[in-house]
Amino acid sequence: MAVFNKLDNVEDLYEIGEVLGSGHFGQVREVRERATGAHWAGKFLKIRKCASSRLGMERKSVEREVEVLQALQHPNIMALKDVFESRAEVVLVLELISGGELFDFIAEKENLTESEAIEFMKQILLGVGFMHSKQIGHFDLKPENIMLSAKMAPNTDIKIIDFGLAHRFQPGEEYKCMSGTPQYIPPEVINYEPLSTAVDMWSIGVITYILLSGMSPFQGDTDEETLRNIIALNYKFDDHHFSMTSAMAKDFIQKLLVKDQNERITAQECLQHPWIKPLTRKQVANRNRSSINMKNFKKFNAKRKWKMSYNMVWVCNRLHRLKMLCKTSALADEELRQCESDQEDTETKPSSLIRRRLSSSS
Ligand code: ATP
Repeated sequence: MAVFNKLDNVEDLYEIGEVLGSGHFGQVREVRERATGAHWAGKFLKIRKCASSRLGMERKSVEREVEVLQALQHPNIMALKDVFESRAEVVLVLELISGGELFDFIAEKENLTESEAIEFMKQILLGVGFMHSKQIGHFDLKPENIMLSAKMAPNTDIKIIDFGLAHRFQPGEEYKCMSGTPQYIPPEVINYEPLSTAVDMWSIGVITYILLSGMSPFQGDTDEETLRNIIALNYKFDDHHFSMTSAMAKDFIQKLLVKDQNERITAQECLQHPWIKPLTRKQVANRNRSSINMKNFKKFNAKRKWKMSYNMVWVCNRLHRLKMLCKTSALADEELRQCESDQEDTETKPSSLIRRRLSSSS
């Protein structure tokens, strides 16, 4: 069981600063260590008071996230420094990641060759490969969870974040879980079949497809249509969007978007694939000649950001309505604060919001 620091109050040791981001169960804020002046990120997670409550996170889930992070010390994985616990909240003190999301960084560029994109892919694979070597699956790999350590290239490294859905496999364990974000989940998740770390490899296939073309391979008009496309393996490399893509890159994606998880290539195998590790001069030249479809990628990213802010506005409006209700009812302030982290209790459709609501695991 994960051990939390119960003796100290986080605010005694850290000065709490600006909000860096928000998740389903709380906020991430910049924090400054009083003793050293060093800057970190504090992830403030509201904890469910009782099993029947729908507000906040189950303590067990937080413990799982902490245990996973404690097992993962790798340059491409966000590091955990400390954990604090109070009655209603757990605070994870994390490595501060200041470079923003990889996709935003790329979208600001005029153009990007496949070789440059591969440098980022390699780091993602190194982080994921390390995770898998520890029998840990992330289970929520998507652009929002791939960040950069700093804003300035070339001194920027990939950092994989958000281990809220991660799972550490015990030997011989059968693990099923129906959660994740529709665009990025493989057929075995939708079919509620036993899972393996190969789930992450499918997501990497989807991310690579998007990175190169600015298109999402299975995206339908509704989540239901997206899930149907995934089950039917209904995707193609249309000439219009993939005209600048190398054959090696397509082969790499094809080896990841494989229905049978046992047939999907692993992170280690990906690192040996000629697209990532070319063996001949011709392969190197092919990569340098090919580039990502920047015009379309920028469009995809703008739409993705718009959807994210739409979700945020929806949540804010809902909170506003809750506050109005609370003013006229006897709901105490403490309870209201808990409502503010309860973004799972929602009837909305955007996929990132229904994500955990749809989840069930065994
Ligand atoms: P979700 O509900 O999407 O799973 P979550 O509650 O698990 O989210 P995170 O995804 O871990 O929370 O963090 C929310 C946001 O906070 C991130 O999208 C990112 O913008 C920011 N963030 C998280 N960790 C860090 C960090 N270590 N440094 C800087 N920013 C961070």
